[in-house]
Amino acid sequence: DSTECVDVVVVGGGLSGLSSAYHLSKRDSSCRILVLEAKGRVGGRTETVPLQGAGGQDVWDLGGMWVGRTQLHILQLLQELGLQTYPQYTSGHAVMQLGSARVAKYRSDSGIPNLPLHSLIDLQLFIWKVERMRKLVPPGDPGRCLHAREWDSMTVETFKQKNLWTQAAKDSVDVACSIVYGVDASRISLLYYLYYTSCAGGLFPLIETTKGAGQELKIKGGAQQVCELIVKKVGRQNVWLNQPVTHITQRADGVTVTTAGGRTVQAQRVICSIPPHLAGRIAYSPPLPMERDHLTQNMPVGHTIKYVVTYRRAFWREKDFNGAVVAYDRTSDKDGCDTGPIQIAYDNTSSNGNPALVAFMCANYAKQWASRSADQRKAAVLRKFAEYFGEEAKDPLDFAEKDWGMEPYNGGCPVNIMVPGLISSFIPALRRPCGRIHWAGTETASLWCGFMNGAVQSGIRAAVEVLSATSPQLLTEDDRQELVAVPQEVETPAKEAHRKKSKKVASVLVGAGLVVGTSLAVYYYIKA
Ligand code: FAD
Repeated sequence: DSTECVDVVVVGGGLSGLSSAYHLSKRDSSCRILVLEAKGRVGGRTETVPLQGAGGQDVWDLGGMWVGRTQLHILQLLQELGLQTYPQYTSGHAVMQLGSARVAKYRSDSGIPNLPLHSLIDLQLFIWKVERMRKLVPPGDPGRCLHAREWDSMTVETFKQKNLWTQAAKDSVDVACSIVYGVDASRISLLYYLYYTSCAGGLFPLIETTKGAGQELKIKGGAQQVCELIVKKVGRQNVWLNQPVTHITQRADGVTVTTAGGRTVQAQRVICSIPPHLAGRIAYSPPLPMERDHLTQNMPVGHTIKYVVTYRRAFWREKDFNGAVVAYDRTSDKDGCDTGPIQIAYDNTSSNGNPALVAFMCANYAKQWASRSADQRKAAVLRKFAEYFGEEAKDPLDFAEKDWGMEPYNGGCPVNIMVPGLISSFIPALRRPCGRIHWAGTETASLWCGFMNGAVQSGIRAAVEVLSATSPQLLTEDDRQELVAVPQEVETPAKEAHRKKSKKVASVLVGAGLVVGTSLAVYYYIKA
């Protein structure tokens, strides 16, 4: 095969790689860019599929889906591509099931989950503590935190056991960990947990569907379109599919990139936009510095299975449910397998009004249920929906599942985490270029790391690094800002709501204290 010569090779046709290619092409129209994507499609961890809806065929996302108003990089991109968003449906009651078979209804707009008072107090004190701690962890550079070594030496599980005393509060932290990271609390560095929270601007933006949170809006027509539309902008001929990169060889005057099919491409620079555990599988010559190798070996990826179920009617809405479920059902079934199986669900009615629910099996639940048959998983998901919203749930129009652990060139999702001990010594290797190789991918982002916004931000930053090295005169002031990794926090309605909620909980605490105090005083007075 003849060797192709370009200026920049981008490895990976996900949101980060394509954002790099798009940014480069906008700044330097003469730059020859080639994107090498391993799969037969672009989009990576975003994938939009057609399903039967009540009003005919429609599309739903099996990967990344939500965006929020503080996610400025993805919102700007959506606007440039002419894509629109619509709000996540939140009116009505949410459902919570922690630990046992107890199923509780609560109004999610109150922001206060239906937990026993002592668990609520326990959880709120924990949340306040996490919020105080995460403010000490700079989003772009967690290693600079004064407590980096101490917090990086423990897992979230250790911290949880030390700081929580009620089971329901512990279960709430467990469920949040498995949903957000796709792994259990016992595998995550506490410092990484705080860093990730900082990158999202706080715990509530990370997990809520309220205004300003990360799950506030959905993209009309699906998230995979973002990548498909960028391909049109950069030119289809510049994006090669089915080209898994296996070797990257650096020389004094350039780089050679080789694919599994034996194709070779010469370039001046490479942007590697694939998740860290996959970047670690490419053969580099000369070998990468030990720090980089160590980093990629210690960033395991989470495991999530996503479900989309379409229905004729949004029967849950008719019963004043908003479709939201938070569940951590740990009762064992006859096989000794956790019953679960879903940890989180939401209303997923499309922008065209076709009713649907979405659910996720995460972390250990995903691992346990992945080995069962697709029919068993389907029956379990529908059974759970029926338990929460009524028997109508057992009669769907269409059903789709995607086990991201089985997806070639992903092997898991939503994000690669960091194990204890990694950040304090190895974090500089996450973004630091290795010669002519620059690193992108949502895991390298400082704003909304792990999310689509992080993917776009990291892609732009890697493109700016390349431009700084090759044509610095083309950089704009905004570009230079992208190189300053530590962003200012954005004030959001979610934070405002969180403050209000904290005040509410504080008043409950003071009220409870007053009641107990007065009762004791009356008791001792009568006794005396
Ligand atoms: P990827 O999308 O993983 O792109 C990497 C690309 O590189 C892939 O296309 C892959 O095929 C390719 N590749 C890998 N190895 C090679 C190789 N050797 N050679 C060439 N190509 C290679 N984010 C949100 O913001 N909101 C959400 O609601 C949300 N929900 C999610 C739900 C699920 C189920 C999943 C899976 C993800 C979710 N995310 C969400 C996360 C979001 O989708 C990702 O952060 C984002 O898409 C990552 O983009 P990326 O370009 O960094 O990585």
